[in-house]
Amino acid sequence: MERIRIIDSKDHVGEIVQIGGWIANKRSSGKIAFLQLRDGSAFFQGVVVKTEVPEEVFNTAKGLSQETSVIVTGEIREDSRSKFGYEIGIQNIEVVGESNDYPITPKEHGTDFLMDNRHLWLRSSRQHAIMQIRNEIIRATYEFYNSRGFTKIDPPILTSSAPEGTTELFSTDYFGQDAYLSQTGQLYAEAAAMAFGKVFSFGPTFRAEKSKTRRHLTEFWMIEPEMAFVKHEESLQVQEQYVAFLVQSVLDNCDYALDVLGRDKELLKIYTELPFPRISYDDAIKLLNENDFDDITWGDDFGSPHETFIANHFSKPVFITNYPKGIKPFYMPSPEDRDDVVICADLIAPEGYGEIIGGSERAIGYDNMKQRLEENNLSLDEYGWYLDLNKYGPVPHSGFGLGLERAVTWISGIEHIREASPFPRMLHRIYP
Ligand code: ATP
Ligand code: MG
Ligand code: MG
Ligand code: MG
Repeated sequence: MERIRIIDSKDHVGEIVQIGGWIANKRSSGKIAFLQLRDGSAFFQGVVVKTEVPEEVFNTAKGLSQETSVIVTGEIREDSRSKFGYEIGIQNIEVVGESNDYPITPKEHGTDFLMDNRHLWLRSSRQHAIMQIRNEIIRATYEFYNSRGFTKIDPPILTSSAPEGTTELFSTDYFGQDAYLSQTGQLYAEAAAMAFGKVFSFGPTFRAEKSKTRRHLTEFWMIEPEMAFVKHEESLQVQEQYVAFLVQSVLDNCDYALDVLGRDKELLKIYTELPFPRISYDDAIKLLNENDFDDITWGDDFGSPHETFIANHFSKPVFITNYPKGIKPFYMPSPEDRDDVVICADLIAPEGYGEIIGGSERAIGYDNMKQRLEENNLSLDEYGWYLDLNKYGPVPHSGFGLGLERAVTWISGIEHIREASPFPRMLHRIYP
């Protein structure tokens, strides 16, 4: 007999099959038992009718506790009442592993309790849906870049220095020398772009974020494309095409998950319409000041309420361009006609989801870069290799970083980034 996955049940209507899974929930009366089965691909209903099965099978069904693992045998049939469209008429149940006093019951639980039980919370239909969306975004990322001639490179995670200041760094001992967990792979991606033209890195990054927000993890995954012979304008186009592609891929392939989460799909469709609007930093400050935000002036970085206001003003992801030099890293160049801003953009998601992407053109030229390193107290012992890129055939290049969990949080429409990672790491949270 064939063992199938729930997700494939539509291809087996009328057949007797086996499904291995867990009991997510159970309702039973004297005559009938409804088992909600979960097998990792989806959730659906199994029905055991007392008069149609041997007595011991019905008794087993009635006695099943939440999260008992089972192999059920039965016939797949269409069922318009089930959310999934199909159910299994169970004829036999083999208990594989018992489960006693499962802590996460159908009632409401507090966040701390659920986080302490994250290893079990992952079994819920909501968490399953979010992880399916995360998986789709990962898959679509590879498809997008591989089909456009990018080579994936993996920058190191243990590094000897940090380009963007040490306040958010996790440090560790590396055979008696200080080492840091990488907070971005960008400089290495730039080196690789000079070798392979178009590259992307996709790996874990670490930041000792000391404030509690709904958007910051201390360990998150970042996608960092870097493109040689590409100026900022072209990079913005890649960014918006990529983000629209992610949203479209989730719409195409995660319909069930979006329904489980109650995500507004019409809204998501709007996010696939290109181009995304753009506003300069200067105009964004004006817009905020005209709308009673008097807590921000030119030169300040935006806080979450500012980003939320700007993106909601456009009701779409919006690029904020040309930030002041003082609030951006050393490697961002200024345009020819102004030296107080840099050629960069952040992509801000609507609905209060904040910065999804940070990107820029990269400064080039040996003397220029040497001066930038010196001005930022970055030693040539540490950055000699990076300066070398400007010694041997430098070319204009641009790149950006997209936070995977930020994208998952936004596209899934969930409140908090902690649910976008299978085992999130945050301030005061490193268990389980
Ligand atoms: P923010 O302003 O939200 O703190 P950032 O400007 O510090 O972000 P970048 O250094 O530009 O972040 O990193 C690129 C992308 O990585 C961001 O646009 C965001 O999507 C993601 N990101 C940054 N910090 C975090 C974090 N602590 N947790 C999850 N994602 C993050
Ligand atoms: Mg930050
Ligand atoms: Mg930022
Ligand atoms: Mg940024």
